[in-house]
Amino acid sequence: MTVPFLDLAAQQAEIADEVLPLWHEVFASSEFIGGPHVEAFEREYAAYVGVDHCIAVANGTDAIELALRAVGVVAQDEVVLPANTFVATAGAVARMGAVPVLVDVDPDHLLIDPSAVPAVITDRTRAIVPVHLFGQTAPVELLPRVIEGRGIAIVEDTAQAQGARSAAGTAGALGDASSTSFYPGKNLGAAGDAGAVLTHDPVLAEVVRSTANHGSTVKYVHDRVGINSRLDAVHAIVLSAKLRRLEVWNQARRAAARRYTELLDTVPGVRTPRTRPGNEDVWHLYVVQVDDRDRVLARLHEEGIGAAIHYPTPVHLTDAYAHLGYGPGSFPVAEEASGRILSLPMHPHLSATDQDRVVDALARIVGEGAA
Ligand SMILES: *Cc1c(COP(=O)(O)O)cnc(C)c1O
Repeated sequence: MTVPFLDLAAQQAEIADEVLPLWHEVFASSEFIGGPHVEAFEREYAAYVGVDHCIAVANGTDAIELALRAVGVVAQDEVVLPANTFVATAGAVARMGAVPVLVDVDPDHLLIDPSAVPAVITDRTRAIVPVHLFGQTAPVELLPRVIEGRGIAIVEDTAQAQGARSAAGTAGALGDASSTSFYPGKNLGAAGDAGAVLTHDPVLAEVVRSTANHGSTVKYVHDRVGINSRLDAVHAIVLSAKLRRLEVWNQARRAAARRYTELLDTVPGVRTPRTRPGNEDVWHLYVVQVDDRDRVLARLHEEGIGAAIHYPTPVHLTDAYAHLGYGPGSFPVAEEASGRILSLPMHPHLSATDQDRVVDALARIVGEGAA
């Protein structure tokens, strides 16, 4: 691709001098899992988000499951989540034997629609998972109103929104607990799979830490059935180095997003993304909407523009979740959007020249369709 979707090499280049000597130390010490680098990152990330506890785990999907288990979700319980999300949000729920209950998203931001929630609440609803999709904070503050007094926990999926803020506070600090992913392509990414659970609640934090470590906080004393989901020191070193740059990188994404919007708002046939009032978006993805999206995407690829789709199939229309029994037409907003959305190249090192290439190609290709 002439303009790649993402440029992770540029991130690595910025941090290599800090990371590589520490990686050598880890090799020499053989302290691979947990240890001082992991503990340091947990403290730094908790402080950054503004929560009391951060438990670093193996990936973002485990983080969702661990947070849900800690708030008391068990098999057969129902967990409400948006139809428009990465499939892992539903996967974490299904893997623990709980039932994903989907709701539609709002047409302006494609985030969970709180007004759709009351209709799906039952006696088995134990939690709701708002997803801060594409880098902007979902309307978490509107959820307590619709689930009031029913003992339903809020577990935020913050995988795409490290550093995002809203009028209500920082994404990841708004619910009973939150999960995040440090998959390399996220705004804050490790050198492989990694994730974390965050919470203000010391009891939840202790349950997560134990569950993620074979159900144990004291070696060979097992209080609960656990799993193995821990962070490796090599990832913590990378994460600490990148966390120090995250505000600057998110700022660069915001500048690039503003520039895309300025340039594309004058292009007929391209709908630029909208940000909820009061939100400080971190632009994990810059998602426009166009007619005839598959043709536009194919033509962009022909011209070397690394555009992508997040996500081509809403959760309920994947084969994996057909058994939930939702058919086409169940979530019209998510379904319509899935045929129109197009993610443009977006990362902190995106140059103005590359943005101009993307905009020129997109304008021309959309124009070809209208002609
Ligand atoms: C990436 C992602 C996940 C899963 O994280 P992994 O680290 O890949 O397991 C979950 N939810 C959302 C919204 C994501 O973007």
